[in-house]
Amino acid sequence: MDIGIDLGTTFSVIAVKGRPTLVDGYPDGEYLAHCDVTVIRTPLGETSFPSVFWVNPENAQDVLIGTEAKQKALEGDSPIMFSKRSIGTDEQLKIGARSYSARQVATELLAQMKRWAEQALGQPVRRAVITHPAYFDRNQVTETKEAAEAAGFDMRLPEQMMMEPAAAALAFLQGETKDPMRVMTYDLGGGTFDVTVVERRQGVISIRAYDGDHLLGGYNFDRELIQWILERLKAGGRVIPYDDSDPVDRGRRARLLHIAETVKLRLSEQRTAKVPVEVKAQDVLVDSDGRNVLFAERITGETYALLIKDHLDKTIACCRRALEKAGMGADELDMILLVGGSTRGPWVQDALKQAFNVKTESFDPDLCVAAGAAIQAAGLPPVASGSDLELILHVPSVSVLPTVTVAGQVRAPSGERLKRGAWDGLSVALTRGAEKIGSFKLRDNEARFAFSDMELLADGPTDFIVHVIDAKGVERLTHSFAITYGAQGGPEPISISLPKPLYLETTDGMQLIAEEGRPLPTRCEIKTKMRWNESEVSIPVYQDDAMIGEIHVDGIPPEAGAGSLVVVNVEITENNEIRGDAKVLQRGGSAVVAQRPVHVKFPPLVLPELPDLRAEFEALEDRRRQLAVLSDDPEERLALEGKGAKLAKTLGRLFAEQAPDRQEIYRAKKELDVLVNPPKDDMEPPRAQFRQLIDATREMLLDGSDAQLVPLRTMLKQIEADGNDAFTTKNHKKWGTTNESLAKLHQKVIMLLNPRGERGGGDLPPAPVLKGWAQQSADALRATLAEECRKLESLPAYAVRIKPRADAIAAAIDKIEADIDKVADDLEPNRAWGLLQVALRSEQQLKQGIHDLKHSVTKV
Ligand code: ADP
Ligand code: MG
Repeated sequence: MDIGIDLGTTFSVIAVKGRPTLVDGYPDGEYLAHCDVTVIRTPLGETSFPSVFWVNPENAQDVLIGTEAKQKALEGDSPIMFSKRSIGTDEQLKIGARSYSARQVATELLAQMKRWAEQALGQPVRRAVITHPAYFDRNQVTETKEAAEAAGFDMRLPEQMMMEPAAAALAFLQGETKDPMRVMTYDLGGGTFDVTVVERRQGVISIRAYDGDHLLGGYNFDRELIQWILERLKAGGRVIPYDDSDPVDRGRRARLLHIAETVKLRLSEQRTAKVPVEVKAQDVLVDSDGRNVLFAERITGETYALLIKDHLDKTIACCRRALEKAGMGADELDMILLVGGSTRGPWVQDALKQAFNVKTESFDPDLCVAAGAAIQAAGLPPVASGSDLELILHVPSVSVLPTVTVAGQVRAPSGERLKRGAWDGLSVALTRGAEKIGSFKLRDNEARFAFSDMELLADGPTDFIVHVIDAKGVERLTHSFAITYGAQGGPEPISISLPKPLYLETTDGMQLIAEEGRPLPTRCEIKTKMRWNESEVSIPVYQDDAMIGEIHVDGIPPEAGAGSLVVVNVEITENNEIRGDAKVLQRGGSAVVAQRPVHVKFPPLVLPELPDLRAEFEALEDRRRQLAVLSDDPEERLALEGKGAKLAKTLGRLFAEQAPDRQEIYRAKKELDVLVNPPKDDMEPPRAQFRQLIDATREMLLDGSDAQLVPLRTMLKQIEADGNDAFTTKNHKKWGTTNESLAKLHQKVIMLLNPRGERGGGDLPPAPVLKGWAQQSADALRATLAEECRKLESLPAYAVRIKPRADAIAAAIDKIEADIDKVADDLEPNRAWGLLQVALRSEQQLKQGIHDLKHSVTKV
């Protein structure tokens, strides 16, 4: 029997489809009639249990899980809680002197659930469908899956990892007949928030869009209340010290969290937000003089809602984004489905009501995710194993169609493909009822087979048997199963998809490899051009805004180089890998001159230690304050003063907590980093350059008194408006043409105003003067380059990453100067001007290259 598991940040749930008889003496299951699922209780009789793990620091065998582990917090010990927040990072969770990774904790929890399910069902449990937040990245999903494997589950099918909101929607829609139907699931749990727009159309359920925040949940609310307590004490002159390396302090904090949660639950039961609830902490807090501190005050729901307002606002913003991605207005939703324990708080419903004014429905907020997982588990293709072979069948147990295809694959017992020789001579035969249908010879190590158009009986189940037979006619494996026609079809497995977009940072800006939500595996090809004459290129790969690796091609021969095409051809697998190859083509041709394999694995997040985070934050904050005053871009100043200041404040608060949350800090710091050191914009040329040229041209136009200038002023205005529009709408083409027009206008103005225009406006000065101007441009480039290199010199990456590029730019400037020199002094001015324009044609590109030097360092 396969089970469904909701491995929650705070609570976990086990469920199975149908109504199996449980072993005598084991607590009865809780049957959910609307979706025909049974929730398996813990031996203590709970339908859900805390995702908490405790181990005796003195004895590793002495382990507690669930309520008994959480109880330790009240006794002053600190068990491991909220470990799911750390999955996919290198964070070590401490218990006494021991430390565990989040994956190890997940393994312990899952192993316990497997044992409980087996005790209850009285039979071995091999497979599970395990849910994860929609907003988990691939690495977090994989770590969870690996934890399940370590716990003894067979997790080989991709559909065994399922998104939580998809599971909730699947369970909910079982009992609903409306079609088409559009719902938004709002799942706010203890530590994660997920929002998903789901649609059912003609029986098919699809996920239209999702968004969320894997570091937002009831835990954040509880921490706000703790801060409230500590701040009030501080205002009264009592400071409570905290040392994260001291298990006693950690135990006290665990009790504070419990108090905060209890207050929250009581507030959430109050009929009105005006009735206060007592917040009392006795024998928990100790001040800096070692004296016990009693805290007793009252708080109303109104005040509480203010404390957590920022968090609620964030969830609403996520909802809006999800709707936008789905291309839907809130008025098109049939309802908002409330999932997760934290949606019980009236503040959540108030916030949603205010923002969307859509009907909300609370649907078994604690159990529906596990129920959906159980439904999906029941639809997993059956697996039969023999001693040396395994058979996996892709058949439904119920079918809405009168005929089905019986397809499957023969594999080694390890789940791997068969080796040469092992599949040779094997065939698969099918019987339906008493009738022999025929047999199918396996052709390669994929060992797949399919019998199509198998008719089903009109009433009752149709019985099938699959036989795997070897060359000698010996039956090696048989498996029987039944398919029922007519009833509502089984659930469509909801496929694995990419949770965050992947990009390549190419010379043309950020290029999308695959958008979020794309089903995996997926293939794609991306082309870009080499900017420099170099023997190697590195193309950074980004997941959302985090760099996860690099595509590197070396050994590029001289016949390729600046302008050559780089073609990246990759597959993104379900296992967090980007695989494929990258080729460099001969300049202007199609011959491949260099080729290297691509293999990028999404690495776990490495979290810096707190002191490092603090130092990095302080440096960023200094820089933010400076730039907020000094930046010459008014929009940048606005962002730094507004959003930037808000982020800095959030960070300040996070650092001020007794046990600062490194993940939340890391994330907020990254956001601040992006504001302070903005990534390269994919619009070329950069906006600042556009603005500079606009300003310079305008100044000249205003200075001049020539009547010819007047119409040009109108033209400049139009160009400025076009440019701003092109930039904000990210219209690359329009941006390019507008910038070209601007450059032409600028040139024209220079020519009209040229100070030596003795021969009348519009005429060019003699060639030597023009050459002098051109030389000034080259000098300016060289000066900028020197200045930039001086700034970057001290960086560790300088010699390897920056210097070679700087040298290439310097060589290009040499070339410009040589070309300027070549222009003969007695040449006719118009001809000379033309040649000099050609000499300087790469000026903008080089400027950008110099700008990029700095950029590559802040990112890598
Ligand atoms: P997860 O899926 O993250 O494990 P759950 O969906 O089980 O979490 O929700 C747990 C969270 O719900 C906890 O933070 C808990 O404090 C909160 N919670 C439970 N009941 C209520 C309630 N009545 N009011 C507000 N919050 C609640
Ligand atoms: Mg949950």
